[in-house]
Amino acid sequence: SGARVRRAHNKRLPQYLERGVDVKFSDVAGLGKIRLELEEIVKFFTHGEMYRRRGVKIPGGILLCGPPGVGKTLLAKAVAGEAGVNFFSISASQFVEIYVGVGASRVRALYQEAKENAPSVVFIDELDAVGRERGLIKGSGGQERDATLNQLLVSLDGFEGRGEVITIASTNRPDILDPALVRPGRFDRKIFIPKPGLIGRMEILKVHARKKPMADDVDYMAVASMTDGMVGAELANIIEVAAINMMRDGRTEITTDDLLQSAQIEERGMLDRKERSPETWKQVAINEAAMAVVAVNFPDLRNIEFVTIAPRAGRELGYVRMKMDHVKFKEGMLSRQSLLDHITVQLAPRAADELWYGEGQLSTIWAETADNARSAARSYVFGGLSEKHHGLSNFWAADRINEIDLEALRIMNLCYDGAKEILQQNRKLMDAVVDELVQKKSLTKQEFFNLVEMHGVIKPMPPSI
Ligand code: ADP
Repeated sequence: SGARVRRAHNKRLPQYLERGVDVKFSDVAGLGKIRLELEEIVKFFTHGEMYRRRGVKIPGGILLCGPPGVGKTLLAKAVAGEAGVNFFSISASQFVEIYVGVGASRVRALYQEAKENAPSVVFIDELDAVGRERGLIKGSGGQERDATLNQLLVSLDGFEGRGEVITIASTNRPDILDPALVRPGRFDRKIFIPKPGLIGRMEILKVHARKKPMADDVDYMAVASMTDGMVGAELANIIEVAAINMMRDGRTEITTDDLLQSAQIEERGMLDRKERSPETWKQVAINEAAMAVVAVNFPDLRNIEFVTIAPRAGRELGYVRMKMDHVKFKEGMLSRQSLLDHITVQLAPRAADELWYGEGQLSTIWAETADNARSAARSYVFGGLSEKHHGLSNFWAADRINEIDLEALRIMNLCYDGAKEILQQNRKLMDAVVDELVQKKSLTKQEFFNLVEMHGVIKPMPPSI
């Protein structure tokens, strides 16, 4: 029987082939226009002859660039799945071996297999592990990697433009790749896969919900809006954790609450990986809590969806999501009083900083919101909304500039005092919101309003101007 085993080995069962890859584009959500580019790659396989006849060059390699978990691997599989071709994969970190020659021979074997089983997609995960610019790493480890990279270049060139083996590689660092890799005929096409936006996140959640017993009234939008900054892998995990939740409680359907809860768990996990000192968490919490606590006093701003201190894409701090008002605000539908209330809310972080930390050690954490307040105050006065200037025919006269600025300042000061007063009267609520934020990092609408209920908001008069 030893001989038979050996013979089987000689036939060389493909080692890098992934069997049963059955991914379709419909399994990858939130791609928008990127999908068209990937559909074209499928056509290189299915309509290769047409491309060749028309003299269109088929790329040998495609780089999928983007952060971990956005679905690069999934997409590569979907390309193979849609084209109905074999899928070979290897992680480039496996190429890098301490034994000289191992990496290079693996690359050779990988491409040999892919060719024997063509048409096929070769997927190289984490290309940067082996594709960094040559000569940058000193010592024998560096030499070994250089040998591997050289072999990869040779293998890529072997298939150039024929469309029978197409290599798709993923990387989060296209900028550090060896220039030889991105030369024409090699990885000459880059596709960037960004983190999903609001709608993208909702679509991804829905894709993963397809195979789960979801309640009919699940509010995917609510979950999407509190998962800013999360990628597909994390969103998929939210659905999994929610399903476990449901099972544990002996229920038969996954509800919005299950999803919101597991989103919070996912987020805390994500945040625990972020470096922030306890003092900083608290400071950010005071900043965001102040806005929420002040906003809840105003009719157009009190519809708070959630409060978070999670650092999100494009935001250093957290944020308070107030529904409706944004829409109204954009459409210029806010009443005069609402605009003043908006200024007051934007000044709340600055006021809280003064109240909680004292004038002596003010930070700049509130700089952005203070800026918002200033420009809103100027529009208010410039728009002729200020009572003092209402109906003046020569309102925009050049010599009034100074006066307008002074009036904007006066309004800001009044709003600032208003914010301070609300915060002072709501210390209990502030402390409770800050505590929970530091603990949980995010509060859902329900959690926030529970605290409002419990610690009673004393509504002072709005600033009168
Ligand atoms: P990457 O290769 O970019 O690190 P993966 O493709 O490995 O990310 O994603 C891991 C998992 O996350 C996928 O198997 C899938 O379940 C989920 N996922 C990621 N992005 C998406 C997406 N756009 N649509 C649907 N699921 C996704």
